[in-house]
Amino acid sequence: MPRNGHNISRRQISENALKVLYRLHKSGFKAYLVGGGVRDLLLGLEPKDFDVVTNATPEEIKKLFRNCRVVGRRFRLAHIVFGRDVIEVATFRGHHDQGDDKTSKSNASGRLLRDNVYGSIDEDAERRDFTVNALYYDISDYSIRSYGGGLQDLNAGVLRLIGDPATRYREDPVRMLRAVRFATKLNMQLDKAAAAPIRELAHLLSDIPAARMYEEVLKLFFAGKGEANFHMMQEYGLFQPLFPLIHNGIKENPKGPLNRMVQMVMSNTDARVIEDKPVTPAFFYAALLWYPLRTRAEEIAHESGLNLYDASFAAMGDVLEDQCRTISIPRRFTAPARDIWQMQLRFDRSQNTRAFKLLESPKFRAAYDLLLLRGEAEGGHTAKCANWWQSFVEGNDELRSTLVKSGGKTPRRRNRNPRRRRRSNEDSHSPESQGRDE
Ligand code: ATP
Ligand code: MG
Repeated sequence: MPRNGHNISRRQISENALKVLYRLHKSGFKAYLVGGGVRDLLLGLEPKDFDVVTNATPEEIKKLFRNCRVVGRRFRLAHIVFGRDVIEVATFRGHHDQGDDKTSKSNASGRLLRDNVYGSIDEDAERRDFTVNALYYDISDYSIRSYGGGLQDLNAGVLRLIGDPATRYREDPVRMLRAVRFATKLNMQLDKAAAAPIRELAHLLSDIPAARMYEEVLKLFFAGKGEANFHMMQEYGLFQPLFPLIHNGIKENPKGPLNRMVQMVMSNTDARVIEDKPVTPAFFYAALLWYPLRTRAEEIAHESGLNLYDASFAAMGDVLEDQCRTISIPRRFTAPARDIWQMQLRFDRSQNTRAFKLLESPKFRAAYDLLLLRGEAEGGHTAKCANWWQSFVEGNDELRSTLVKSGGKTPRRRNRNPRRRRRSNEDSHSPESQGRDE
């Protein structure tokens, strides 16, 4: 499609990407903007990043740019670094029947462990995942090349995989997650043939290195479409291999608080992303894994005779270790996630003068946000505790000191008279008892 047939102008392309494209072109190489950048500009969306592809090899690219780093083992490419902006420059990929063991390697299930066979632009297009991602913007004449019907599919809103879907998913199971992500992000229909094998192949995701999965999960849940991705992943059996603990917990008790918690975390994260508020994996994982943590703590308490409070600390390590087998969460997020969990244990015991101290803790806000979600997910005692803290947080000095005085007393009085406590619990749903509580 020539320049006058489409609406992409150079002004929409980042200055750094243009610099890279022009330098390659002037040095006699072919240079194209490719993939999401072209796709999103054609759809009128703002691209997340601009990827470049060329016939220059990583070594040749390195000679052209001082600010170049060659990265990646499975898929080698060049990063051209402009301060915090990085332009990824890949070399055209070819077919694997032309490769040797150094450039091309796959495992028994067909997964590509090395994808470094270079080729022509036509071959490169066939190696891409979806037709709408096989769009190339040519810097030499500003035309767009579309392969496999990419432009038609883009206009029709169809997400079609290039080649035989099962083979392409086996080569790289992450493509199944990309299918979900693009379907929700671009509001496109996943083509029937691309959808059909996913349920059966979803389990292959458990082979993917946990570090890569961490990145994919960020793209799935921190870009404003988390709730939609969660539902679609569940529909296709893709949630289980990533979050086995959470999946099992929901399966055991679909009406339980865990299911509600997951929904709320997803929709709240989406809302924050859309409002441009900060989101952190520390809170995300702490909230998602709170109920699996409780379950594990109860098991430990039961097996070892530890009380639930001590067992919870032991359970934190177990649950994080378990989750990190599939998604390697960096320590800079697991450490604050533990803090958020510890604070949950303290909220219940600190509805007294200790509350002031808790309020000053740097993790208070995140922990308090989780407490509010737990209150909504569970109701009952937790909701009461959450309400107390909400009044405390929002109240003025006078209200706070009243709360601290009354909050501390209630459990002590109850403890002295277990018979009365039992009775008041039993009729806690009657209007009379609610009136009394207030
Ligand atoms: P976005 O940047 O919005 O997530 P994108 O399509 O640009 O979407 P990238 O991960 O930036 O995705 O990859 C750039 C391009 O590289 C893709 O458009 C696609 O052509 C190709 N690509 C990326 N990952 C794969 C993969 N796993 N298999 C085949 N092709 C891929
Ligand atoms: Mg991209």
